[in-house]
Amino acid sequence: MTDQTPRAGAPSVYRFAPSPNGRLHLGHALSALICHGQARKAGGRFLLRIEDIDIGRCRPEHIDGIIEDLTWLGLDWDGPVLRQSEHFDIYRAATRRLQALGVLYPCFATRREIAEAVVARGDATARDPDGAPLYPGLFKGRDEREILERLARGEPHALRLDMARAREIAARALAGGDLAFTETGFDGEARRVVARPERWGDAIIVRKDVPTSYHLAVVVDDARQAVTHVTRGRDLLAATDLHRLLQVLLDLPEPVYHHHRLIADAAGRKLSKSAGDTSLAALRELGVTPAEIRRMVDSTQDAG
Ligand code: GLU
Repeated sequence: MTDQTPRAGAPSVYRFAPSPNGRLHLGHALSALICHGQARKAGGRFLLRIEDIDIGRCRPEHIDGIIEDLTWLGLDWDGPVLRQSEHFDIYRAATRRLQALGVLYPCFATRREIAEAVVARGDATARDPDGAPLYPGLFKGRDEREILERLARGEPHALRLDMARAREIAARALAGGDLAFTETGFDGEARRVVARPERWGDAIIVRKDVPTSYHLAVVVDDARQAVTHVTRGRDLLAATDLHRLLQVLLDLPEPVYHHHRLIADAAGRKLSKSAGDTSLAALRELGVTPAEIRRMVDSTQDAG
């Protein structure tokens, strides 16, 4: 099988979707360069989306920094930059659709209560692909009156996916077909990968503090921006399982995925903003040129 375009005749659409909670580093440069290269090679569009739902951690100066760094690298993008924080209403509408399917339930538990319940469960080894303990089901199937009272009191809560029910509804929508996605390799070869979203347990779809989550916003935006090809790091491969499930539940088109290698630091760990890895801005200050960044990125080791 070779690379497929989801909607015949329509142009391919790619996107780079950084979160502005720090400056871009070499790992972002790798991602943006691969994605931009694929888009231009395909004669497609390349979009820039700012994933700034995390209002507490995202800073406007980092958005300016992203634009400065990408421009400096020589990358251009098509159309206006989409900022997720300006579209919370659209995520609210998607939430209502999921609620109408009966696949979301409110969870009032604090982190601490969840941690205690995980200990009480006696199995701290059950973890999601990000390493967080699987939700111990605290508010699943709780007495409806209690839930309504808490809601009426305005108690802060997240909305979690009832994974079992979501799988049932998706199975019906897929009429016996597998929940799966297409992953392409660098050579354009494509393979179908069966998704296992249950690895995430009853995942948070709407956070307590903002009216969406990364998972919901990314799925909604990929669809409304008509993204045909999602190119991003391998650290997000497991998240795609959940994204496919949400796409089926919300009846959204399925993009083709490519999860690229990650860059390792000297100790073999994946680069990250939080670990204070060398930013593109700092490298630029040191006199490193965009051409050198491209070479550095090409010669870096794979984190795994
Ligand atoms: N905003 C995410 C990040 O910066 C990437 C999301 C995606 O490409 O799906 O890690």
